Amino acid sequence: MTHTYTRRDFLRLAGMGTAAMALPTSDLFAADYIKPNVIVILADDQGFADIGVHGCKDCRTPNIDSIARNGIRFTNGYTSCPVCSPMRAGLQTGRYQQRFGFYHNPPKDLDRTNWGLPLDQKTFAQYMKEQGYVTAAIGKWHLGDNEPFHPNKRGYDEFFGFVGGAHNYMHPESGSFNAVQRNGKPVDEKEYLTYAFGREAVSFIERNKKKPFFLYLAFNAPHSPLQAAVRDQEKFPEIQDQRRRTFAQMQLAMDNCIGDVLKKVREAGLEEDTLIVYMSDNGAPTPGNTSRNDPFKGFKTQVHEGGIHVPFMMQWKGKIPAGKTYDKPVISLDLLPTAVAAAGGKIASNVDGVDLMPYITGKKTGSPHRALFWHFDKQSAIRMGDWKLSRHEDKGIRLHNLANDPTEKTDLAHEDRDKVAELLAEWERWSADNVKPMWPSKADAPWTNETW
Ligand code: CA
Repeated sequence: MTHTYTRRDFLRLAGMGTAAMALPTSDLFAADYIKPNVIVILADDQGFADIGVHGCKDCRTPNIDSIARNGIRFTNGYTSCPVCSPMRAGLQTGRYQQRFGFYHNPPKDLDRTNWGLPLDQKTFAQYMKEQGYVTAAIGKWHLGDNEPFHPNKRGYDEFFGFVGGAHNYMHPESGSFNAVQRNGKPVDEKEYLTYAFGREAVSFIERNKKKPFFLYLAFNAPHSPLQAAVRDQEKFPEIQDQRRRTFAQMQLAMDNCIGDVLKKVREAGLEEDTLIVYMSDNGAPTPGNTSRNDPFKGFKTQVHEGGIHVPFMMQWKGKIPAGKTYDKPVISLDLLPTAVAAAGGKIASNVDGVDLMPYITGKKTGSPHRALFWHFDKQSAIRMGDWKLSRHEDKGIRLHNLANDPTEKTDLAHEDRDKVAELLAEWERWSADNVKPMWPSKADAPWTNETW
């Protein structure tokens, strides 16, 4: 087969440097093979029902919705943890975070000197750098307060953001460990934080549009505190609840920034060369920020669907069919292997996530995962096919068939004990490969692996 290389091909091959040389010849000369840029956009504490494409009526998220319209929407998209930090440990490694003991957010009184994503765990950015990518993390990190754990030390060429778990939107918190920083140096940021992250993301794309790039854009919006940008504070006058109005304004700011990123990609002529993923890190903490999980039961911190079943979508023009949905369960751990495979890399055998592209495009049928698993504090869950077994604190074991009962209303544990035993055995097999938590959920919380 003959293939005429375009200017775009040469630019991108040139940008790959030594990684290009390491690629098998068959890959280099495969027709139309271009290493795609990868943009992972993460929202923070946005519930399933907070976006237009899931039926939200009071907020406006046209740009987020456009990713679903131009790509694929995962109707059973999950996060590996119902809170922020462990979820990010899973996303950054493609591994269930329990494999290396990262079960919980660090408790307030934990000595955090050596706290963070363990340094022996290979990160998303490190994988992408091996493939010749330029890498950036923009936004919230939450995987280590001190320098050895910072993004710049974990494979990210550039970092603009903060390292803690939450941040004031209006001032840079100068002088604290959590100051807004650029590559380790505090910056006196004047812009509303969400818009600052959007600005930096667009700048990174502009500066690196001729190379394959990996951008991890982790907004802290719409996580508390509830603070809107001055420019948005008159929006949504029809929303009566002041807190919900502010929430809608915060989401609007994030959506505007995502629109700017999508526009920059389009204007740079990179839409066909860019895989863009959007998801929320965990379900809505409704009392905290008014976000919503309808129709699901439960909230952030719980392994009910409301804590783990999140907005999840992906676009890649020309490669991913537009406007489709995919219903088999997928999980945040899948982002890394999907991106690394698209970049031409090999995925380590210890990665739990799965390259979703063959499933999305129909090359592979069946489910990407035999089962998905959760273990957070005294809660555990497994989803296998339509079945979900879960344990919530001391409230016993529950069994639900999510095909008939997506809102987990009807507990079938006493009616189908064989199914309970089957799922329990599957979970125990998974758990056998995990290690103990590196720190407890609370300073005085005893650890037990007798979770069922
Ligand atoms: Ca979160």
